[in-house]
Amino acid sequence: MSEMTTRTTMKALVYRGPASCAWDECPRPTIREPTDAVVRITTTTICGTDLHILKGDLPTVSTGRILGHEGIGVVEQVGTAVVEFKVGDRVIVSCITACLKCDFCRRAIYSHCRNGGWILGNTIDGTQAEAVRIPQADGSLYHLPVGTKEEDMLMLSDILPTAFECGVQNGQVKPRDSVAVVGAGPIGLAVLMTAQLYSPASVLMIDPDEQRLAVAKKFGATGVINNSQGDAVAQVMKLTGGAGVDVAIEAVGLPATFGICQEIVGVGGRIANVGVHGKPVELHLEKLWDRNISLTTRLVDTVTTPMLLKVVNSGKLTPGKLVTHRFTLADAVKAYATFGNAAQEHALKVVLTSSPIQTNNH
Ligand SMILES: [Zn+2]
Ligand SMILES: [Zn+2]
Repeated sequence: MSEMTTRTTMKALVYRGPASCAWDECPRPTIREPTDAVVRITTTTICGTDLHILKGDLPTVSTGRILGHEGIGVVEQVGTAVVEFKVGDRVIVSCITACLKCDFCRRAIYSHCRNGGWILGNTIDGTQAEAVRIPQADGSLYHLPVGTKEEDMLMLSDILPTAFECGVQNGQVKPRDSVAVVGAGPIGLAVLMTAQLYSPASVLMIDPDEQRLAVAKKFGATGVINNSQGDAVAQVMKLTGGAGVDVAIEAVGLPATFGICQEIVGVGGRIANVGVHGKPVELHLEKLWDRNISLTTRLVDTVTTPMLLKVVNSGKLTPGKLVTHRFTLADAVKAYATFGNAAQEHALKVVLTSSPIQTNNH
């Protein structure tokens, strides 16, 4: 056993209450349940949800919590009941913990697993650390295919299945469809990427940030709309001859962006909400009641992760291109500052690696 596995402490990014976090010394995680694994983190990233937590928006996250729910690493210890993984395996950590046995897991709603769900970096310690304890390891880890690019595979922890399940699948994107994605942040761009698996006739990206719209164009958007003047609805209507779009995907989580979706959805269309909402939104049924639309919400279940893993492994999708900034884990606080100031820093996904920084595999 290396010195690494016998150490009793480690460093981790610890939430210290609203607007405060620190790279602190913590106890190194150990196996508590036979179904646990301990994973040494080699690569992790920061999610928009982590920024919400840092603002103090999520009451489930208590002071002292290690943040993070995405990562890639090496299995360091396994409990006696873990059958799919052994020490030394390279793994992708799913943002959703799944026991695969409870009633919700049996219905493929892993996000509401009775023994898991979204707990990492929320109700239990997370992945922005030198090591993390993963409960229900068999249902919550995936083998990292040999020879793959770590930054591509890292996007399978959360962003790719979230965009695909909550946006593309729930929006029932089909070849003939016109699609509009409101929000061209990392999640919106991941929706754009995964929507193309179904060859929609058009994908419009709506965002007030010109830089992000330029990225969206490079990633295959058929049109981009800058909403800094607040006229996105009029622009979409003009582009669609007054019909609106078949699929409106909300990828921000604000009343205004959800409002745009309601105004641009066409007859027979779908509104798929992906954004995390912290405030009530108005639902305009007085306008929508007779338009044959449907509205969906979802917390990612990560049930499509095995499929997406194959697609990424084949090279058909290269979500690692969302990575704009790289830091060492020890610079996590600096990485948060960069990600928190995304517009000025032109940040999309910010990657943290255990030191020394690994060379970019791309
Ligand atoms: Zn996330
Ligand atoms: Zn379960």
